[in-house]
Amino acid sequence: MVNIVLFGKPGAGKGTQASFLKKKYSLIHISTGDLFRYNIKNKTELGKLAKSFMDKGDLVPDQVTIKMLEDEVKRNTNTNGFLFDGFPRTKSQAEALDNFLNEKKMEIKATISLEADDNILIKRLLERGKSSKRIDDQNEVKIINRFKEYNKKTAPLKAYYKDQNKFYTVSGVGSLDIVTNRLVEVIDRL
Ligand code: ADP
Repeated sequence: MVNIVLFGKPGAGKGTQASFLKKKYSLIHISTGDLFRYNIKNKTELGKLAKSFMDKGDLVPDQVTIKMLEDEVKRNTNTNGFLFDGFPRTKSQAEALDNFLNEKKMEIKATISLEADDNILIKRLLERGKSSKRIDDQNEVKIINRFKEYNKKTAPLKAYYKDQNKFYTVSGVGSLDIVTNRLVEVIDRL
C-alpha cells in the first residue's frame, strides 16, 4: 500500500495531477477542498461551517477537517493506497494523520511538493476563478490570504516530513505531461 501526500501552495496543480496519478497507480484520491465543496453544494452543516472560512481564504478549523478526512479514509478500506490532496495543511493535521494511519498499520510513504512562484500561481488561480466560479479564486486579496495561511501554517510541514525522510520536491512549472512525468519519476523510485 502506498499513501502519498501531494503538497504545495494553492494553484500548484495538486488536483490536476492527482487525477492522472490516481488512475496510473489505482489510488483513492482524497481532496479536502473537494469534500468541503461537495458539502457546500449539498448545504450540509459541515458545508455551511466550511464556507464561512473558505470564502475568506482561511483554513477550516483542524478538528472539523481531521474528522472529515478520517471518515473518508474509513469509507474506502479496499485500496492500493491513498493520494491525499490538500491535507494535511497544519502540523496538528499531519500528526493526526500519522496517528490515525499507524492505528490502521498504514503510513505515509512520501510527501511530494509541487513548486511554483507566487506570480505564476496568482495568474493560474485568477484564470481558474473565471471558469470554476470559486469565490476564493476570483479575488487577489483572498488568494494572497491563502498564501499567507500556507506560509504560516502549512510550510512548516516541510520540516515535519523532511525529518522523517519523506519529503520530495518537483517543479510544477511546465506542461501538464511534463509535470506528471516528474511526479511519476519520484513515485516509481519509492
Ligand atoms: P487550493 O489548494 O487551491 O487552496 P483547495 O480546494 O485544496 O484549493 O482548498 C480550498 C479551501 O478549502 C482552502 O482555502 C481552505 O479554506 C479549505 N481547506 C481545504 N483543505 C483544508 C485543510 N486540510 N485544512 C483546512 N482547510 C482546508
